[in-house]
Amino acid sequence: MLNWGGGLLRQAGIVRLEGKWAASRENRSMIRALFLGGVLLLMVPSTVPATASADPSAAPTSHTAPTDPLMGPADATDEPRTASAPHNASETPAPFLVGSGVYDITGPPADVMMAGYVEFSQTTHGIHTRLRSRAFVLVDPASGRRVVLVNIDQIAVFQAVSERVLERLRATFGDLYTAENVHIAATHTHTAPGGLSDYFMYSSGTAGFSQQNFDIVVDGIYQSIVRAHQSLAPGTVRMARGDLLDSSVSRSPDAYLLNPQEERDRYRANVDTEMTVLRFDRADGREVGALSWFAVHATSLHSDTTLISGDNKGYASYLFERAKGTRYDTAGTFVAAFANANAGDVSPYPGSRLNRRKEWECLEGPHIRCNATSGRKQYDRARALYDGETEPLEGGIDFRHRYVDFSSLEIDPRLTGGAPAHTCYGAIGLSMLAGTPDGIGITRPGQSCTDPSFLARLLCLRHPCHGVKPVGLATGRGLLAPLTPQVIPLQLIRIGPLVLIGVPAELTTMSGRRLRETVLKELEPMGVRHAVLAGYANAYAGYVATREEYQRQNYEGASTHFGEWTLAGYQQEMQRLAVALREGRPTPSSATPPDMSKAFRLRTPHRIPGDRAPWGKAFGSVSVDAADRYTPGMTVEVRFWGGYPNNDPLIQGSYLEVQRAAPEGWQTIAYDWDAETRFLWKAGWFKTSKITVQWDIPADVVPGRYRILHRGHTLGRKGRRLPYEGVSRVFAVERPGTVPADSVPHPARGAAPASGEVVILSEAR
Ligand SMILES: [Zn+2]
Repeated sequence: MLNWGGGLLRQAGIVRLEGKWAASRENRSMIRALFLGGVLLLMVPSTVPATASADPSAAPTSHTAPTDPLMGPADATDEPRTASAPHNASETPAPFLVGSGVYDITGPPADVMMAGYVEFSQTTHGIHTRLRSRAFVLVDPASGRRVVLVNIDQIAVFQAVSERVLERLRATFGDLYTAENVHIAATHTHTAPGGLSDYFMYSSGTAGFSQQNFDIVVDGIYQSIVRAHQSLAPGTVRMARGDLLDSSVSRSPDAYLLNPQEERDRYRANVDTEMTVLRFDRADGREVGALSWFAVHATSLHSDTTLISGDNKGYASYLFERAKGTRYDTAGTFVAAFANANAGDVSPYPGSRLNRRKEWECLEGPHIRCNATSGRKQYDRARALYDGETEPLEGGIDFRHRYVDFSSLEIDPRLTGGAPAHTCYGAIGLSMLAGTPDGIGITRPGQSCTDPSFLARLLCLRHPCHGVKPVGLATGRGLLAPLTPQVIPLQLIRIGPLVLIGVPAELTTMSGRRLRETVLKELEPMGVRHAVLAGYANAYAGYVATREEYQRQNYEGASTHFGEWTLAGYQQEMQRLAVALREGRPTPSSATPPDMSKAFRLRTPHRIPGDRAPWGKAFGSVSVDAADRYTPGMTVEVRFWGGYPNNDPLIQGSYLEVQRAAPEGWQTIAYDWDAETRFLWKAGWFKTSKITVQWDIPADVVPGRYRILHRGHTLGRKGRRLPYEGVSRVFAVERPGTVPADSVPHPARGAAPASGEVVILSEAR
């Protein structure tokens, strides 16, 4: 996450507000609501019991058998579902049962602030690519143990989301899936709608809690897991590892240099370049999917992006799934997830330069081009590893999980050089306001207690526990409740020779290396040879810099919540989990997270319901139509009078279709999740909505007659949703010098975008 404080200060008027945005009455109301909320938070008596149990294991134990979870959502499955009950272990020689599922989690495409950059003007105005939850279920028939590995196109997995998903899993599956064996991680895209956290700092940093987005994300994660569960079948899991160079760069190299020379000498770069890929196959030969980890921030798209997008990792998934013919409306389809790792100090702009604002510049042009380049590099490498030599993962499944209170954790003297030490209540330093080259802030990096500034010194006197960090906000010491999580989930998952280290944080490169070493040292005697730092998992509690990097107080150090011994705390607690795993002992939690659902919630302001089309126009009518003819490389643009997109986010559906005339009728060749299309929304006068659909015609398009379709819902009286459709004129796509053909074969789904693709990601307002 970036530049939290910078964005907030800008909104507070401490820094200049963005021009037109600041003039908006709705947004001024939002600012007022935000700060009124802050004041209320300080005034209202606490409603959050300090140790109220939100432990999923304390949830109701009633087990409601699902009628058919796959039939829950309305989706247009037109292929036979492949769902089947899990096979009996004795029927198969395959070492595992494997299953995969994918489901839409694209939140409201209008008016919801995006999470990550804390740029209050960055509210959703349409869709570049849809967001997905991608799930794999893995069962070891010999032991009966199973794990769920989920990756979601989101900034993070907030505690409220993971808790609600676990509640729903419990209601459906009883004790089969719990916090212990369910691992939910985020890609860390910075262009997804926010409002998913109960913790004040993260809800206020996205202009409030969005119930609509929360429900969509929770349901989508749940549905993806159900689909993975339902498609379980005998199969194998194989692993491949290899380097991906020229795809990542350190954004905090001066802090990295503070790590000991002999430690740095063991590595060839100041970022981790290794990618790990798991390949899932069914015993009947059918490919199930791929799950990869590679450490890089999903910040190829910058804070001027207002279209929802999965950023570079979402784009990599899109390419892999397109190549494998994934059907998003079908259970058991091929799923490709690109998860993140220790990306705390890693940007996706290798070889780039800083612009005037000191942010990475995309040398290829608009940032969306660099996004495609980064996504394609990750896809190409993952694909090569997937198709190449792979090692079977055998040796069973096991896992350990524990909630740990990091606000005052005693650290083993062996990790501190003999000195007594402990972690501190959560707090962020002044340099968090500095941001990073992925999204610059308003102050300078490196503000520490050695600073001559009076403010820094004063803040240091108030919070000595935090060492050199001048505390700008003590997030662990909210009057009513902590503003950020302090009781956090730690998780280890072992699959044969592989261990996944599930951490709810952004670890820097060297922090991740040290934590991997700590865990591997304990597990090597039982045959574990490779550790993956699975970051952004199960909750979110800031960054983790090494103690040496912390002294520099760059953005990452300033965002290390629990003080300079934070990493040591992670090492100590993960070591305990690893020993318990090795020795077969349970790991009961010593604390439970507070029940934040009862805490004060800032809510995103809602638009007053109701839609209008201009006088004399119908919903779906075309305001600016397509031209007569196009050639590949050109962009078709059609504008409609439409409804407010949030009336129905069309989960598992699409706001647009690009259709080609075929002998059997109109064939759809692209949807709103395709990278070659864009769906844009803009508010008009008197509750009108201006919808724009853009289609970049791919280089290998099939010549013919085409049209653009847009669909949506208006909100009538008493909240009734009324569907509507609009269609453009029919236009010709022809190769230069050719005549369009009316009867040509149906093209392969989703041809590659033209090289000159994509221009607009942020809407002109
Ligand atoms: Zn981040």
